[in-house]
Amino acid sequence: MKILVINAGSSSLKYQLIDMETEQVMAKGLCERIGIDGHLKHTPLVGDKKVFDENVAMPTHSEAIAAVIEKLTSREYGVVESMKEIDAVGHRVVHGGEKFSQSVRIDDSVMAAIEECIPFAPLHNPANITGIKACRDVMGDVPMVAVFDTAFHQTMPGKAYMYAVPYEYYQNDGIRRYGFHGTSHRYVSSRCAELMGKPIEELKIVSCHMGNGSSICAIDGGKCVDTSMGFTPLVGLPMGTRCGDLDAGVIQFIMNKYGISIDEMLNILNKKSGVLGVSGVSSDFRDLDDAASKGNDRAQLALDMFHYWVAKVAGSYVAAMNGVDAIVFTAGVGENSKSSRAAIAGYFGYLGVEIDDEANSKRGEDIMISTPDSRVKVFVIPTNEELVIARDTKAIVG
Ligand code: AMP
Repeated sequence: MKILVINAGSSSLKYQLIDMETEQVMAKGLCERIGIDGHLKHTPLVGDKKVFDENVAMPTHSEAIAAVIEKLTSREYGVVESMKEIDAVGHRVVHGGEKFSQSVRIDDSVMAAIEECIPFAPLHNPANITGIKACRDVMGDVPMVAVFDTAFHQTMPGKAYMYAVPYEYYQNDGIRRYGFHGTSHRYVSSRCAELMGKPIEELKIVSCHMGNGSSICAIDGGKCVDTSMGFTPLVGLPMGTRCGDLDAGVIQFIMNKYGISIDEMLNILNKKSGVLGVSGVSSDFRDLDDAASKGNDRAQLALDMFHYWVAKVAGSYVAAMNGVDAIVFTAGVGENSKSSRAAIAGYFGYLGVEIDDEANSKRGEDIMISTPDSRVKVFVIPTNEELVIARDTKAIVG
């Protein structure tokens, strides 16, 4: 069975074609500048086919999908003979609200429910819907499955997902913590259980997804019991450009003092805050490491704040679960930054965590970076959301 995994953004579309017999990625690629002009980078990963990296006109997502199919099936760049070899498509969908606690096969009622969730994710869900419709246009009735970023977090208890505002806002408007990065937290926690050789039902895991966007998840017995992102992905940890947790009074103060609108304010909190806002240097942790090593105090402060927040939230989840067996680092910073992992692990002495420097220096593999004696195990596990989407699609489509 061959499954095409699609992650559609407003002007971009990422894809992978995965052979489910071997779980090997056969080809992957990225369409960019959809609706502007259009560029496709397509990389075949089996056989000796060529990489395609050129401008292609993409007025809408339909042309983007058509270009992807054309490349996947072409003599020069392709990895399959025809579209018929693609058995199913798995779509990443950001927000499934309270309706979806699992992946589902897409039909008209599912499309309608994803549309109903647009107010919760006004930038992401419309792009995901456009991607699904474009696939239907080009691929006809190939079975399709939606895999939601929020679904894994639907097991949180009310005490974790409720906000302490008048109950009517939850009842009438669905105002609550939803959480994001669920597919990533699900993947790394189940992989962690495999690496530990124990059933996930017996483990308490804190999963730290640290990338440009970051969130932490408490996973008890394989189920999410709390997570740091909320109604939107703005809260929790300070991130590349997002502020993380913030006293709502600050918003009123800044808006009044500088006469700015709520849209401008949210733009500041989403795009100009986080480690970028504090450091004034960059949202990229490599740049921050570089600047800090040259004596830039604000870059160091931004890094210190990030590490402190990860440790603080992770520690609160140890309390929430009444213990922890393993801590996992994943995503861009978690997978690549030895210094960030070491700085964060430095806060976990009370858990009996000991880091093995040599293991912590390795990259690109699933690895335990704690010493064999460490009471709580610490892992680096490169995330693989596409594989989860493909596996769910296979399980649902059969
Ligand atoms: P992601 O959102 O998971 O793609 O992660 C992107 C983030 O990972 C960016 O802030 C990058 O700076 C960060 N990153 C990638 N490689 C490294 C590295 N070697 N050291 C520190 N941060 C890194």
